[in-house]
Amino acid sequence: MQRRGFVAQVLGSGVVWRARAGGMARPLAAIGLPAEWARVPEVVIEPPLSGKPHSGKVLAAIQPHADDIPFFAAGTVAKLVAEGYTGHLIRTSNDEKAGSGTVGEIILNNERDNDAVAKALGLEKVFSLEYRNHEMDGIAREEMRERLIFLIRLLKIDTVICYDPWGTYEENPDHYVTAQVVESSCWMAGMEKDYPEHLAAGLQPHSVREKYYFARGPQLVNRIVDISPWINKKVEANLANKTQGAAGVNGARLRSRLAAQKLRLPILGDNDEAANREYIKHFVLDQDSRFLRGVPSDREVGRSYGLEWAEAFHYIGPVESMLDHYIAEHAVPL
Ligand SMILES: [Zn+2]
Repeated sequence: MQRRGFVAQVLGSGVVWRARAGGMARPLAAIGLPAEWARVPEVVIEPPLSGKPHSGKVLAAIQPHADDIPFFAAGTVAKLVAEGYTGHLIRTSNDEKAGSGTVGEIILNNERDNDAVAKALGLEKVFSLEYRNHEMDGIAREEMRERLIFLIRLLKIDTVICYDPWGTYEENPDHYVTAQVVESSCWMAGMEKDYPEHLAAGLQPHSVREKYYFARGPQLVNRIVDISPWINKKVEANLANKTQGAAGVNGARLRSRLAAQKLRLPILGDNDEAANREYIKHFVLDQDSRFLRGVPSDREVGRSYGLEWAEAFHYIGPVESMLDHYIAEHAVPL
């Protein structure tokens, strides 16, 4: 098939494929294709939910570095935990090259920051796999995969939030290696023939059913999560990263630099604590987001969908078997 002969369009809420040379526009569903297979998929808005609809479910926020989940998904993690999930944090690198001081000091400081991220987001257990920072393309991926499968089975993880294994133009090997190993671990953890020694030790096969994937480059976005009620939680998670990244205490540093020039920015407030929070909210997550995080502003993403603040994901959820429905409708007595 010649791909150039077709374009994807969004008309109203439905996705259609349309032949370029005057063909009829038809919804994907009408030709038997799921909407998410389109280049421009249907986008689902995930609103704040009342009560604890996710009670009993377990999520893992998985990040190569202490600042990844805070930058790209902290609002969604905070939302899901508020809605009933039990959450855990898994960091795959040791962050040894991100920060100032000796290598030992950097590792220790990032470890403390990572623990503070978990606390800010209400995550219970923290696991750090400690692969060397920036060098994860040289690791044995099968070894990391077994470690993740063990954790998925041990913690009974139903949902992961992580980098998109199909996100394009990602330059950091820690990001794409982590994403790819997470992806393979999610389904393999549910298979009983993989790592039978886990089962002998008392664990059970356990598949991950839902995935929220974020990216720093182009990706297939099919879910926008309304994080407006949790924007201050997201600020809190970013405030925890004092050793590395664009957030942490950079607001106070900017305030100090401006004061030396006899200047101040009213948006940063009247003290260092306020300056750190306001800088994260208004610059890291909004006005200078592309420069500081490499992604569009959370406020701009939200505005496109009539929301105040939002995060974008490629969401992959469970697919329901139709067999039971068919049996209920068509089965006859023997
Ligand atoms: Zn990172």
